Amino acid sequence: MATKIKAKPAAKTTVKASAKTPAKEAKKVLTPAMKSALGHTRALLDIPSATNRIGAVADYVEKHSKKLGYKVERQWDDTLRISVTGKETKRVVGYGAHLDRIGLMVDELFDDGTVKISAIGGLYPGHVMDGVTAKIQTKSGALVEGLIFHTDTPIHKMGLEGFEKRPQKWKNIRLRPDACIGCTKKNGKDKLKALGIQVGQLVWLNPMLNIDEVNGTLRSRWLDNTLGCVVLLALMERWAEKKLKPKFSVDFIFSAAEEAGMGGTSVIRPEMSDFVAVDTSVGEEMEDLNNCAIKQKAGRYPYSQKLTDELEAAAEKAKVGFERKSFEGGGTDAEQAKGAGFKGQVACIVSPIYNLHSVESTTFGAVEGVIETLHAHAML
Ligand SMILES: [Zn+2]
Repeated sequence: MATKIKAKPAAKTTVKASAKTPAKEAKKVLTPAMKSALGHTRALLDIPSATNRIGAVADYVEKHSKKLGYKVERQWDDTLRISVTGKETKRVVGYGAHLDRIGLMVDELFDDGTVKISAIGGLYPGHVMDGVTAKIQTKSGALVEGLIFHTDTPIHKMGLEGFEKRPQKWKNIRLRPDACIGCTKKNGKDKLKALGIQVGQLVWLNPMLNIDEVNGTLRSRWLDNTLGCVVLLALMERWAEKKLKPKFSVDFIFSAAEEAGMGGTSVIRPEMSDFVAVDTSVGEEMEDLNNCAIKQKAGRYPYSQKLTDELEAAAEKAKVGFERKSFEGGGTDAEQAKGAGFKGQVACIVSPIYNLHSVESTTFGAVEGVIETLHAHAML
């Protein structure tokens, strides 16, 4: 239990309250790695995407990696591999993050100008029940903005009891494009079609990104796994700029379908002996959200002892705060890779975040810890 702090008695003073606004608190001084990570976070969260709809985010990572001088291999499903030759080339270690995110898509068009939506990956009605803004990405690339709402709305019509018992089912959730407000059953569907809306299109929730450089925190949808991707980009940037060569060869892998349970397939190549999944996890299970976590087990599957030990030793070398964690739920690319036939060792390091799969939040420390641990793993 947290220590209770006694409230200070109010200071006896006759000074009148000042009308001046309080002095601005100073921003944290960012390390180059964190600066790079935050820059990529901003850019990536500006790109609508979800599982198997990752072309544009893959374009961003590919372009940026090439700019740094890396050679990029792109597979048919937009997964990316960037191989960095080490001082010793016999051992190939993969650091992998999934490019894909959970999301939504258009399921059905209704006469009244609303659409039914459904999940891509582990997104549930409870995450978006009411009053959430979203954009539908049409064929032309245009984004049509609207509002998500529950069919049992408003409270004035439902009564409190009915409102509190609203079913959390996708069939009760609708999205109404703002352009369809006021449409009738006679003209609603035509209006949807005129806007270019079709079944199967990506629905992009407003990420609600806020980077707080005073308190060193960030909040947004899709931190899972934007953070894993920016960790890899920050490492690549540091190694390229300082012309650093890792101890062993490193494959940076950006996978495509982790949220649908199929991301691990992109990891497999016979030369690779070790694979570290770089992801996010449940922040509420941490003692301190400023730490990163080294996963020991996800569900029933324990990660490889030797590679996990190496990561812990690297975190200690880098003087990074970390917690050994066994998370009950939430798999990663690591065991997906095993399931797909990868024969090497697997481990997982994560930035823990609050409200996983909803609007997520975390600290700079949780992100920087992963960058510094992997840097120490490959370099020290
Ligand atoms: Zn993830």
